[in-house]
Amino acid sequence: MQLQLSRSQVDSGWKREVERRLGRKVAECYQCGKCTAGCPVAYEMFHPIHAMVRLVQLGRRDEALRSRSQWVCAGCEACSTRCPKDVDPARLMTVLREMAQEEGCVNANEADIYDFHMSFLSSVRRFGRVYEMGLVAAYKLKSPLRRGPQDMLTFPKMLKRGKPGLFPHKIQNVAAIRRIYERTKLQKATERKAD
Ligand code: SF4
Ligand code: SF4
Repeated sequence: MQLQLSRSQVDSGWKREVERRLGRKVAECYQCGKCTAGCPVAYEMFHPIHAMVRLVQLGRRDEALRSRSQWVCAGCEACSTRCPKDVDPARLMTVLREMAQEEGCVNANEADIYDFHMSFLSSVRRFGRVYEMGLVAAYKLKSPLRRGPQDMLTFPKMLKRGKPGLFPHKIQNVAAIRRIYERTKLQKATERKAD
């Protein structure tokens, strides 16, 4: 991948904020590519994980936040396990997801993944675990005309097997889960999206 840079395109303040959230210095990355070599979804990414780290090193805020890579990422942590410099690229993907949400920079082509992500977070915040029926309903209601008819043929077969469960089951200490959301600011994001 070739990058053309001018000084005005480099956002050093943004890079420092990413590093603060990541708890690592991205300068540690020497672009060996071991992270991308082990990434199971690299073939779906225009910016594979080592390139995302490079974008942050260069302070390329817009490209990094608007990339689809952080939404395609499966969160498997293979990249972080393989990284010889402990840059924690998997954590970087989480940081970029959060920042893209906060700054309204979510890649427009990844609305399905983003809506599913937010529905998942809302469900866990409410019940302390995923309530599958509620998750699916919330996801479909964000785009009912297009998503409503999807899975209609498989749904009765799933119901016969008791999937998804019709009623939610809360964990005992939901308050503890909500405190985690408050600490990580995800509550704010999920509430904003649910409005
Ligand atoms: S494995 Fe680590 S050092 Fe190597 S390119 Fe990926 S983030 Fe950089
Ligand atoms: S955590 Fe994401 S970027 Fe890292 S290897 Fe897994 S899918 Fe790829």
